[in-house]
Amino acid sequence: MYQSITFADGTAIAPDEMQIAPGKLFINGEWRDAQDGRTKPTINPATEEAITEIAQATEVDADAAIKAARKAFDDGPWPKMSGHERGRILTKVGDLILKHGDELAYRETIDMGKPIAFSHTVDVPLMADLFYYYGGIASQIEGKARHVSPPPTHTPNLTYTLREPLGVVAAITPFNFPMILSGTKIAPALAAGNTVIHKPASITPLTAIKLAQLLAEAGIPEGVFNLITGPGSKIGDVLVKHPGINKIAFTGSTDVGIGIIKNSADTLKKVTMELGGKSANMIFADADLDSAVTSAFFGIFYNKGEICTAGSRLLVERSVYEEVIEQLVRHVEQMSKGDPLDPTVIFGPLADKSQFEKISQYVQFGHEDGAKLRIGGRPFNPNGNGNSNKGFYYEPTIFTDAIYDMRIVQEEIFGPVLAVTPFDTEEEAINLANGTQFGLASGVHTRDIKKAHRVARAMKAGTCWINTYNLFDVSIPFGGYKASGFGRELGTEVMENYTHTKSVWVDLS
Ligand code: NAP
Repeated sequence: MYQSITFADGTAIAPDEMQIAPGKLFINGEWRDAQDGRTKPTINPATEEAITEIAQATEVDADAAIKAARKAFDDGPWPKMSGHERGRILTKVGDLILKHGDELAYRETIDMGKPIAFSHTVDVPLMADLFYYYGGIASQIEGKARHVSPPPTHTPNLTYTLREPLGVVAAITPFNFPMILSGTKIAPALAAGNTVIHKPASITPLTAIKLAQLLAEAGIPEGVFNLITGPGSKIGDVLVKHPGINKIAFTGSTDVGIGIIKNSADTLKKVTMELGGKSANMIFADADLDSAVTSAFFGIFYNKGEICTAGSRLLVERSVYEEVIEQLVRHVEQMSKGDPLDPTVIFGPLADKSQFEKISQYVQFGHEDGAKLRIGGRPFNPNGNGNSNKGFYYEPTIFTDAIYDMRIVQEEIFGPVLAVTPFDTEEEAINLANGTQFGLASGVHTRDIKKAHRVARAMKAGTCWINTYNLFDVSIPFGGYKASGFGRELGTEVMENYTHTKSVWVDLS
């Protein structure tokens, strides 16, 4: 096993940062065990070994977290503080994230199997940026003033709006980008003056625990941020149904999202849903093919395909179909796969056993439905992790001749499986791209600028990348159409999700 890890920039993770203590709940500014003392191990998907034990919150613990967050919102200083003050604390969180970036990257990688090359250079800086960006926005949450003279009195009035925090926000996050997707909710929710309860995915709690420490160290008052770990179907469900919660910010699968909407209806919560995807990436014959293929390759295989925007359907104009597939296969053959703690690796194990089983099942569906396997389609044993028969490693997989109604074309696989389909006309490509229940993202590769914009407008998806794929920035709104959800995260747009608008009327007559 590793004694320390050195990155390309010369920085190294110190051995003490690689010691992971058992995970506790963080409620009302205190670390505590679950009320019944129950714990569950979190597993390293590269070795299948337990990393440490994680407290499994009970309903009593969830209730305590809700009480603490409620009290902090109703009676505490946080919502009443100036935006400048909240912003200064959130900026400090950003600084602490960067200071502890090596440890955070290490935790993310051993918990999720994400190559450390990415958790170190993508996930850590992006999470810090979320706290810097919303730290800046905290002092810019503004209403508007208008003069009106409404009938029937026609008296002049000054009317202005105030933007006020909602109350207690439950942030429920998935396993695939544990750090970024936590920060995406926690930073804007806190910036607006809400209090927060975070429920991370059960299989990847380690960076959420570290983030709770950093939030406390930065000076977030007690009760304003709380962390509970444990099964979503139990304690997530308590949050969803509880009248003390005002808003659910959810990222996860479409099925769980639908259940949350139903279960939250009786208590009329505001909900935002960032759900699944089955995104189409199109390559027209007039594209810069080298660049388009590289983009398609990272579009599906980045983060092992465990990314909601995965370009899991590749649509290729027939005249370049074979050429694109051959180039893609060459990229896969040359890819550096294996132990995610090796800084030269870009493709690691799937996040857990159930992911491994699900991917294997979909590859079977691909065969059964008549798609042609071009590469992959089986597990692999990485060299050099000292434990070669262990780990949830699955080959990057490409099926070609995929047609409309195949399960690998219609259903979200959420893993490294690409379905490639040929097309003949722009209209056909657009219909194929829009032809699933999902609408999260899309991509188009062409040198024809008019076609590029035409296709982007025709996509029924929340994002369209032109001649690129899978780019994100804290300032650019993100979210879905159709079964991929509603509500936008990131950018200034997300602040709508964390504030009420109040109208105030002043009679000027
Ligand atoms: P998931 O199974 O839906 O779980 C997401 C979160 O919901 C986890 O914290 C989970 O807890 C919790 N949960 C489960 N059942 C619940 C319930 N009944 N009530 C309340 N909470 C509950 O999703 P996942 O497998 O972690 O993540 C993969 C999915 O997320 C994919 O569909 C992917 O496309 C989607 N995703 C979407 C976006 C986006 O921005 N649109 C981004 C990333 C991922 P446990 O872990 O304890 O079960």
